[in-house]
Amino acid sequence: MLDMKWIRQNKNAVQKIADWKGITLSLDHLLAVDDRRKNLQQDAEQLRQERNTRSKAIGQLVAQSDSEGARQIKRHVREINEKLAKIDRELAEAQQELEQLMLLVPNAVSPDTPYGRSDADNVLLRQIGQPREADFPLQDHVELGKLHDLMDIPRGVKTAGSRNYYLKGAGVLLHRAVQQLALDLLVSKSYTLLEVPLMVRTDAMYHTAYFPLGQDQTYRLAGSDNWLAGTSEVPLIAYYSNEIIDLREPVKLAAASTCFRSEVGSAGKDVHGLYRVHQFAKVEQVVLCEADPALSDQLLQEITANAEELLQLLELPYQVMAVCTGDMSQKTYKQFDIETWMPSRQAYGETHSSSSLHDFQARRSNIRYRDESGKLRYCYTLNNTAVASPRILIPVLENHQQEDGSIRIPEALQPYMEGREFLVPPQ
Ligand code: AMP
Repeated sequence: MLDMKWIRQNKNAVQKIADWKGITLSLDHLLAVDDRRKNLQQDAEQLRQERNTRSKAIGQLVAQSDSEGARQIKRHVREINEKLAKIDRELAEAQQELEQLMLLVPNAVSPDTPYGRSDADNVLLRQIGQPREADFPLQDHVELGKLHDLMDIPRGVKTAGSRNYYLKGAGVLLHRAVQQLALDLLVSKSYTLLEVPLMVRTDAMYHTAYFPLGQDQTYRLAGSDNWLAGTSEVPLIAYYSNEIIDLREPVKLAAASTCFRSEVGSAGKDVHGLYRVHQFAKVEQVVLCEADPALSDQLLQEITANAEELLQLLELPYQVMAVCTGDMSQKTYKQFDIETWMPSRQAYGETHSSSSLHDFQARRSNIRYRDESGKLRYCYTLNNTAVASPRILIPVLENHQQEDGSIRIPEALQPYMEGREFLVPPQ
């Protein structure tokens, strides 16, 4: 949770960021509720003192056999108790309202974040690789999937409803190959791998700032306090919640997990093929470091470079975008998206999202470390996709297709694909 003193000092800036990020929140109202809470607390404190003083006086009056005086003061104490009960109720309500409002306060954004309303306002930083100019008509991933029997979307819909799919045969191998390649890359960079719980408690969702604002994106397990995580970032951060950790070196974690998303609000959007589905696999990078903005910035570059390295290993053209205020989530301080060239869309499509959160998540999760002077401080957190599949299969299949219908397997993937250099359509 952000510091109230900081919010008060930066009220206008925080209001501006909430507006930019599309969060409905009035800072004036939040501060008024905080003032009310403080006043009620003071009133309650005063009444308690008064009650104590008067209660002591009762004893003295009884000792002096002044029963009329004692009766009068007892009546007073009863009145105080009634007032206190009312104030305590109002205080609890104000406290609760304040807690709800505080959960909506956005993180600050970095000074170099571009201002904008939506992803259309994101700013291009670099393009790597050239979109392919094919001299034959390119097929899209759904057509290629049918040709090679790599996927079955109609049966996925039959079994599980819209935005579901089966992968088959070499489609499954490719899906697993890209994940294993990503995991191996991260292990070579000293990341610690975790196999994580995916049915997480409500607390974990609040602590990582996926709730309350992302609640409608998340599937709840009926009859329980648990939710299906939409990303392993949740259990990876929650791993350290309420702990004091050693951060002399940044902690680098990675997990491969299934991700579940309701995709509320995307009705009619990206309905073709495997782009936007309810269940997918993601290898995620999560980093925790000391509260040092320069270090955090350097690590943001590093986790972004890891994803870029993977895309280069997959031999895919991509671009890196500086994400604008309006396309950022509540928790994000600075964000880069990586978009990979998808011939069927004749456009780059988002495949990776790299974020630095400063201490926003750590405050909510209560993750701290001792700095050099021994002082307890909230750490900084960062995260980025290493690879998300099946979305990444779209550019892999479409960019590497050949005129005869075969699909070239990038060299880095071949060891994970039984050494095959090409997928050849079955006869
Ligand atoms: P996020 O965790 O929201 O930053 O998303 C990271 C990456 O996961 C995206 O860049 C996509 O590659 C992938 N992804 C997110 N949502 C979906 C979805 N509904 N279907 C398929 N892939 C997704």
